[in-house]
Amino acid sequence: MVRLFTFMTDDSSMRGSLAAEADGDHDATSPPRSPVDQERIKRAVREILAAVGEDPDREGLLETPARVARMYAELFAGLHDDPRQHLRKFFTEKYDEVVLVRDISFNSMCEHHMLPFMGVAHIGYLPAGRVVGLSKLARVVEVVARRPQVQERMTETIADLLVEELDAKGVAVVIEASHSCMTIRGIRKPGSLCVTSAMRGIFRSHLSSRSEIMTLIYGRPHA
Ligand SMILES: [Zn+2]
Repeated sequence: MVRLFTFMTDDSSMRGSLAAEADGDHDATSPPRSPVDQERIKRAVREILAAVGEDPDREGLLETPARVARMYAELFAGLHDDPRQHLRKFFTEKYDEVVLVRDISFNSMCEHHMLPFMGVAHIGYLPAGRVVGLSKLARVVEVVARRPQVQERMTETIADLLVEELDAKGVAVVIEASHSCMTIRGIRKPGSLCVTSAMRGIFRSHLSSRSEIMTLIYGRPHA
């Protein structure tokens, strides 16, 4: 019988600690955070505006290509960041209960439509000696999300990173997200939620452990 220990993130405090870490991670001598070619994006956005029948030189659109370029640099910053580095600052702890962080909010970009999908990730793992700070899990979600993505791959990538870097006995990742490519276009189903999960180690091989972690994840009034 595995005893379980749950951490829930308070979203506002998580954001605060993430911001603080981001400041600390990059000092003045660091290379530019985003090697995204913004001039190239600007040219492309101008092209798209013209292609849909707009006048890119209209006053309201003059700054749009530059704005979109800065936005994409931000939304795809994860392409130039290695999520593993955040898991390598683990500490050794004789702690053999499940660690669970629920409701890590994220937004990502669907690679099929270049439209955002957003939601929450729940990450649970059963450590085998290596434990990371809770905010590092949120950081990993952030880095993996800020890339052209599909939700299924995002879920598996996070699970595999935890297995590989923490050598955890079990990893469970569940992601719930709303895809704007399903809500504003195509079949237009607002309110639909896409749920994906990736189970590794004991959570994959032992049905009882798996149902235990799923109960932990959903064991509360669920919006
Ligand atoms: Zn899509």
